[in-house]
Amino acid sequence: MSATVYDKNNIFARILRGEIPCSKVFENDDVLAFHDIHPQAPVHVLVIPKGEYVTFGDFVAAAPATTVAAFFQAVGTLASTLGVIDSGYRIVSNNGTGGGQEVPHFHVHLKGGKGAVA
Ligand code: 5GP
Repeated sequence: MSATVYDKNNIFARILRGEIPCSKVFENDDVLAFHDIHPQAPVHVLVIPKGEYVTFGDFVAAAPATTVAAFFQAVGTLASTLGVIDSGYRIVSNNGTGGGQEVPHFHVHLKGGKGAVA
């Protein structure tokens, strides 16, 4: 399966370039995490790789294995630092328009806290 063409002007690309502000919770060389602008849970953070991948499929097919590992390790660490281990949490990735993806830059929603699982 070929990778989807990446839109360099999608909203998360613009956040990564600093053109649009975000409420940052974590950043390293590979990953940026920030609060969702329309939270659907007490804790609702978006975790994105810094590389240009449209979907989960693109990410795991094209990114180096070390980058994929670093990404998901960051998600796990964030669940801990955000304090949602005890409450329980969800990690969700919408893929493709049929999968409910609105922003065409691969991302994981990390939702937790009281009421996160309706
Ligand atoms: P998707 O439907 O693509 O899985 O989720 C995209 C998410 O990005 C939505 O939950 C939406 O609220 C969030 N979002 C869209 N634009 C912005 C923005 O400019 N800043 C932040 N922090 N979140 C955004």
